[in-house]
Amino acid sequence: MIITNNVKKTKRILNVQKLDNKVIGFVPTMGLLHEGHLSLVRQAKAKSDFVVISIFVNPIQFGRGEDYVSYPRDIKADSKLLMEEGVDLIFCPNQKDMYPSDFSVFVDETELSQSLCGKSRPGHFRGVCTVLVKLFNVIVPDKVYFGQKDYQQALIVKRLINNLNYDIKMYVLPTIRENDKLAMSTRNNYLNDNERKDSRCIYEALSLGKELIKQGETRVFVVVDKMKNVIMKKRSTKIAYIEILDAVNLKSLKKIKGKILIALAVYINGTRLIDNIAISVK
Ligand code: AMP
Repeated sequence: MIITNNVKKTKRILNVQKLDNKVIGFVPTMGLLHEGHLSLVRQAKAKSDFVVISIFVNPIQFGRGEDYVSYPRDIKADSKLLMEEGVDLIFCPNQKDMYPSDFSVFVDETELSQSLCGKSRPGHFRGVCTVLVKLFNVIVPDKVYFGQKDYQQALIVKRLINNLNYDIKMYVLPTIRENDKLAMSTRNNYLNDNERKDSRCIYEALSLGKELIKQGETRVFVVVDKMKNVIMKKRSTKIAYIEILDAVNLKSLKKIKGKILIALAVYINGTRLIDNIAISVK
């Protein structure tokens, strides 16, 4: 396993693999890896000849007052895990290569980014799209792997790949959960024991939403209100959003019907967690 931190060297290594006709699988991450990340790594490993994982906490996707500085980092632990998975290359780009002092070119997605996390974290997806374009340009992957946990991000990346004519096949893999169904996330590390218990309300709310819809409820506000009640029962919580949207274009719905997304972002004493369920309703 090779670990690189500069763009030139990384490109050189990947060029050699390409000349050898190797299929390059790529998983972008911000590190402090858990089973959610590793599920993507394993798929990449199964479906490609040369697997690259990037670890980069991307400053421009964090807003002012967010956790860029405190975001947990442990490259040693991550490398050990990735070595065990048989990953070929870890790319941990240095800041200078990613954001030189004259950096002034950004990539904006202007439609799917208008709702959910795009609305509650202005500039977030501009940061995500910009860093991904840079990473795609360095690695030139054939296949990329993303998690459904970040549903909106996955839709935006799909759009980015199509709109910008990348020859990349994208795979979106299911959300991996803890035993009590909390979606795995690096930010779960911020939670103390009580907060961790409270965080169960996130999946409870999503499950209630799904159940109500399955029982035939078609009014968005009725489902959202009942979900809100579940979350607000816990004193540590603050809701950033709970929404039910069209799962294909993230537009609001007059009536719950078709392929829909139930998505939420909730703060547990300041730790922002997101989760979602996508379902089809006849
Ligand atoms: P992050 O390091 O949080 O930027 O995540 C890197 C990739 O891992 C993204 O594609 C995420 O959607 C994916 N991911 C994060 N958590 C999970 C999870 N619990 N299950 C599946 N994929 C995940």
